[in-house]
Order: sequence, then C-alpha cells, then structure tokens
Amino acid sequence: ELKIINFWEKNKIFEKSVKQRPVTKQYVFYDGPPFATGTPHYGHILGLTSKDVFPRFWTMKGFRCERRWGWDCHGLPIENLAEKDLKISEKKEIEAGGVDKFNAYCRSKVLGYAEDWGKVVRRMGKWIEFDNSYKTMDKSYMETIWFIFKKLYDKKLIYEGKKILMYCPRCETPISKAEIAMDNSYKTVTEKSIIVSFKLKGEKNTFLLAWTTTPWTLIGNVALAVNSRMDYVNVKVGSNYFVLCKESIEMINGEKYKIVDEFKGKELVGKGYEPLYETAEGKAYVVVNGGKSVSSEEGTGIVHLALYGEFDYDIIKKNKLSIVQHLDEKGRLIKGPEEWLGEWFKDLDKNIIADLDNKNLLFKKLDFSHSYPFCYRCETPLFYNAVDSWFINIEKIRDKLLKESKKINWYPAGKVEKRFEYIIKTAPDWTISRNRFWATAIPVWKCSKCDEIRIIGSIDELRKNAVEKIPKNIDLHKDVMDNIHLKCSKCGSVMN
Ligand SMILES: [Zn+2]
Ligand SMILES: [Zn+2]
Repeated sequence: ELKIINFWEKNKIFEKSVKQRPVTKQYVFYDGPPFATGTPHYGHILGLTSKDVFPRFWTMKGFRCERRWGWDCHGLPIENLAEKDLKISEKKEIEAGGVDKFNAYCRSKVLGYAEDWGKVVRRMGKWIEFDNSYKTMDKSYMETIWFIFKKLYDKKLIYEGKKILMYCPRCETPISKAEIAMDNSYKTVTEKSIIVSFKLKGEKNTFLLAWTTTPWTLIGNVALAVNSRMDYVNVKVGSNYFVLCKESIEMINGEKYKIVDEFKGKELVGKGYEPLYETAEGKAYVVVNGGKSVSSEEGTGIVHLALYGEFDYDIIKKNKLSIVQHLDEKGRLIKGPEEWLGEWFKDLDKNIIADLDNKNLLFKKLDFSHSYPFCYRCETPLFYNAVDSWFINIEKIRDKLLKESKKINWYPAGKVEKRFEYIIKTAPDWTISRNRFWATAIPVWKCSKCDEIRIIGSIDELRKNAVEKIPKNIDLHKDVMDNIHLKCSKCGSVMN
C-alpha cells in the first residue's frame, strides 16, 4: 500500500485525474468539514472512505471532480478547549479578559490535530487536496456566510425571534440540555406550588383556577390555556364560583362545593380575565386553546402562560399574544410591581404568594417536590429564559424541501426516505445564532435609537457604509465587528 501511495504522490496521479477531465463536465461533491480539535477515530474513517468512493467513481466515468479538504474551526468544541486551557468558565470572564484575546487563543489552537488527520487521510489512500484546505475561519468563507445570510434575509427566510433555553442567570448564558443531562444537574427540591384564582371578566365572582410551581412567572402572565375538547366544571364554594377541568375536581378537596355547570373547554376560549400584574401591552389576558398538551394529569386543566416555557412560547406565538420578559439577564425583576424591582426571581416567589393571599386570589398553597435543574458550573438554580436568536424559517420552505427530497436517489430506498421526510415534516425553525464569541459575526446592525435594521452582505458593502475606515485585511469575528458602526439611514443615529 505504501508503495502505491508513494507512486501516486510522486507522479501526481490524483491531480492529473482531475486536470485531465474537462471543466465543462463537472461532478460536484459537497463534504462537511471536520473539527481538528480531536484526533480522527474509526467513525471518521468510515465516513471518509464512503466520501472517497463516489468522487472516484464519477472520475472514472469521465467527470472532473475537484476535491478540497476543509476544517470546521468555529463553535463550542474549540471554545470549550480554550476555556479549559485558560482556566475560565464564564462568559463574563471572557468578556472581562477581552474577547479579542479569547478569539486569538481559539485561532491559535484550532488546527491542533491537523497533522494527525493528514497522516490518516494519506494512509487510507483518500484522494483530496489536503494541504490546500479551506477553513471556516477564513475571511472568504465568512464573507460567503454574510452573502448567504443577506440573501435569505431579503427573501424573508430569516427572522429574529426568541428561543426558550435553560439558562443560568449567574453565568448569564444558556445551558444546553445535553450539558445538563451529562452532569446530572437535577436535584430534588421541595417548593411551594400554588393554585391561583384569575377573575373572569363580566361574570360575577367567577374565577379560573390555574396551578403553578413557579410563582415568579405570574408577573409575566399573558394568557390562560385550556383544552377546547376537555370537560370543565363550574363549582360553587361559599359565595364564589371556580372553573377547572372536571377530572381535576379533587384539587378542590377540603372545601364544601357544588357543581353548578359543566361544559367543553371551547366555551372558555376567548373570554377575558383580570390581570394579576398588568405587565403586558397588546393582546393579553384572554383564554386560549392550548390543544391536547393541556391535560388533567397535572394541575387544573387550565395552564397559566408566560414567556418562560417552550410550550408557553409556542402558544403565545400562535395567538400573537404580548411578549413580556420581566427578568433581566441576571434573573432580576425589571417589569412588575415597583417595590419588587431588582429582586432575584427565586426571592419573588414568597412576595407573590403573600400578595395574592392578601388579594384573596390564592386558592391554595401546596408543598411540591420535584427535580429541578442547577447550573453544573456554579450550582445556581436555572430557569427557562427567552433568548434573542436568529432563525431560518423552515415552515416557509417545508413543502419545497419535501418536493425536492422526492428527487433524491435514496439507498436503501423506502425506510431511509421515510425517515428523512419525517425529519423535514417535524423540523422546527432553525436557530442559526449562538450567544458566543468564536464564530462568524452575524452581519446585522441595529439602530441605537429607532428600530432600523441593516444587513451587510460583503466586505465591500461594509466599507461603503461603515463609520470607521475598514482596512484591507479586516477580520470578521465578533471582537472586531463589535467596534464597527454604521449610520442609521432613517434617523442618523449610530448603529451597532
Ligand atoms: Zn452558572
Ligand atoms: Zn435610526
């Protein structure tokens, strides 16, 4: 084998096999680049082999099949490595030490195992331009991402929205589900859960009952969700009436009650109720249909909705309800009763329970044991937070994707095709932004005064529009881009 490899290299057989074939008869092969932050393993060798077979086959059929090696240089694999080496573990520490220094370190370490990869690729006899590799941190590569980003934005396939992620308010960063699962960061805790009375508008002494384990989210309540097909009852307790789902009637226990009415959840949809803490602007404080995700298994069959949950956010978006984010990035109250502003979210619980009790809106208080996630770095209790993110709108192109997938020659046919179709059918909109440092900076500038947004699609375009002078060798990473500003075309203010 070594003899053959040496012969190939000496006589430039691979290079000739490409050059001899006409430019007009191309076979294009897209290959995803690996990270060089670890050594290649058997899984890589399998992939590298199958990706060698097809270009060779088409080359033998007379096609010109250019192949160039690439390196995936950005993202968490290298950032985690850098954090470990530099003995830092928090976003704030990276910012304090300088994002430029952090990124420079990432850059210096990114091709740490390139040599090992080169040996394996050569020894397995794979034909590819290895030394002339492209890197995802190359300026030309990053500029292409800008070009594509702008194109998608112009086609209205990119939008900015919120993503609900597990979040540590001390590290001020989202924590991925994988990280939490890996470190077994859940602990069993006993907290107060409460059943809250929401007063229906236009009906005398009638309250909707909703159960929550996170009282602090009530300040951001914007709606209540029911299941339109489930059975609900109106029960009389003393001189008041309470609405909850029929199967949860035992939650009333301990009280003398009488069922006075029974109806489907759809009767409740559209009704308004009085807000507990009026923090929402726009559409809010109505009963909406939450579908079959709203059940009688936990709680009252009426779900209090705030931004701080995946299900909640879906329903909020679907019903175009008001977006209320009442905590800041450190988990402190920034919207709500004035006397509580600045308080930490966990400390709000007891204030809210006492306040609702005062207003006779606390139906019941229960001890509740559940497993709760804590930060694996600093042990702070986590919560689901709504993090600003950029998305590619999959919904808009789903039908087209399905149609295109029909044209693919699947092997083995049938099962694989079905699985791919299923992935497309169920794919949510794709989050393409990360709240991190070492990556292509998103080419969006926002006005500091008005809502104007400007997308830049190339370095030339940046040069024409930037306030600062753009040098020839400009780098497109965050530490550089954060210092480049534009002038707002609408109001003349600075865009960041
Ligand atoms: Zn933390
Ligand atoms: Zn402006």
